[in-house]
Amino acid sequence: MRAFTMEFTHTINGLAVSSEGDFEVIDPATARGFARCPDATREQLDQAVAAARRAFGQWRRTPAAERGEYVRAFAAALRASATRLAPLLTQEQGKPLAAATSEFLRSADHIDVLSTIDIGGELLRSGGRDKVELHYRPLGVVGAITPWNFPVVLAVWKIAHAIYTGNTVVLKPSPYTPLTTLKLGELARGILPPGVLNVLAGGNDLGAWMSEHPGIDKISFTGSGPTGKKVLRSASSSLKRVTLELGGNDAAIVLPDVDIPKAAQDIFWGAFNNSGQICKAIKRIYVHEDIYAPMGNALAAIARATKVGSGMEPGVQLGPVQNRAQFDIVNALIDDARRQGGEFLSGGEPLPLPGYFIPPTIVSGLGKGSRLVEEEPFGPVVPLIRYVSVDDALDQANDTAFGLSGSIWTVDIEQGRALAARLEVGTAWVNQHGGSDPHLPFGGAKASGMGHENALLGLRDYMQLSVVQSPPDPSAPAAK
Ligand code: NAD
Repeated sequence: MRAFTMEFTHTINGLAVSSEGDFEVIDPATARGFARCPDATREQLDQAVAAARRAFGQWRRTPAAERGEYVRAFAAALRASATRLAPLLTQEQGKPLAAATSEFLRSADHIDVLSTIDIGGELLRSGGRDKVELHYRPLGVVGAITPWNFPVVLAVWKIAHAIYTGNTVVLKPSPYTPLTTLKLGELARGILPPGVLNVLAGGNDLGAWMSEHPGIDKISFTGSGPTGKKVLRSASSSLKRVTLELGGNDAAIVLPDVDIPKAAQDIFWGAFNNSGQICKAIKRIYVHEDIYAPMGNALAAIARATKVGSGMEPGVQLGPVQNRAQFDIVNALIDDARRQGGEFLSGGEPLPLPGYFIPPTIVSGLGKGSRLVEEEPFGPVVPLIRYVSVDDALDQANDTAFGLSGSIWTVDIEQGRALAARLEVGTAWVNQHGGSDPHLPFGGAKASGMGHENALLGLRDYMQLSVVQSPPDPSAPAAK
């Protein structure tokens, strides 16, 4: 028996709302439809925006500490629902059940911490000839648009940032993975005041309507670069604020002094976790020529030992690619790598199953000019690239339009830090890759994004600064 009801509704003004139209949601492990999702109309978007606008009046005046309590009550509900909702997340997204459960729990832990960060104003200066305070106020209605790789984490981050800072939200998930997000709206109905969080499912056109909607004050978008550019263009009509978390082509640079078995484990999972469908996954591995062969062998051995299959099957470590279009993109990159003369250390062929399964694929012998090196595969395939000088490896790592994150692997931590600082990215790690921490701002450099999420910096992206300059307090020392 299923652990969730198969009824899916939008949430508008705290109420369950259905639509006349609907669309099919596919289980990527079987390539078959398993549920129907309501398809919101433009009028329903208008209703959601109007509800969010009405709720904003009161919500913005609710003290931040109290809003933090609401956010943590929502986190508690997420935690309590993890076991019940994880099978739904697995069925629509494909990830193993344990990873789906942990996605709920990690989201809850994350926003518990985020919602305790002090977002109050600051005194810039006092005394002398004036007093200058920095005040921050919420922006209004935030439109949140999310992709299909981490439907829960990414939606929950946006909800928490927006409502903790006093905004109200209209949230739209990817049409590939809308169902768990609709359940988030259902959970919030009993916790947040009506209108504070509205959740609508629909196609790409719903995202486009949101980006151009005059009643939305900010778009917080996570997804691909091409869509991010469309969002930015539409948002310009009303000068909406925009945060864009986009794609990456993260490089890991492995120095010759590493402990190969240990580094191989961490690098493998940095590349292949969630079947490589992570914006900040390792997507290029640069290995010094002295350890190129043993590192390739170690990575390939882990790949071969990794269990790939339906996320519902016990012991499965990697599920399918999430959708047919992405499966075709990854297979096209693999075919191109084969034509370019790449040597397949592991994988290379889809599994003979009905779903979208590609085993972890490691390709050696490619370099600049190959599609697999230049493009973001967003799937379980990664090139291994030989280098001689670390300066050259850094130049190659930086020679891309992307700039999300990157990592240096070495036992010489001091040198690792110095090299990491030369990566032209939003986040650079030494001997790790891909973690997230609510206290650390996360955002992309170059074509990987604009703005930040997490930490005070990320929360401020959901607020408007007002500088208040006034005469000094009478007790302040006089200006000289
Ligand atoms: P996508 O851009 O195709 O879709 C993302 C969302 O945008 C979906 O909800 C979609 O319906 C919506 N959308 C589509 N067209 C739109 C339009 N014209 N206007 C507004 N919204 C529109 O991306 P995807 O394939 O779902 O996700 C994969 C991409 O997301 C990868 O490039 C990945 O790197 C990136 N990503 C980035 C981060 C990050 O934090 N930087 C995190 C996860 C994923």
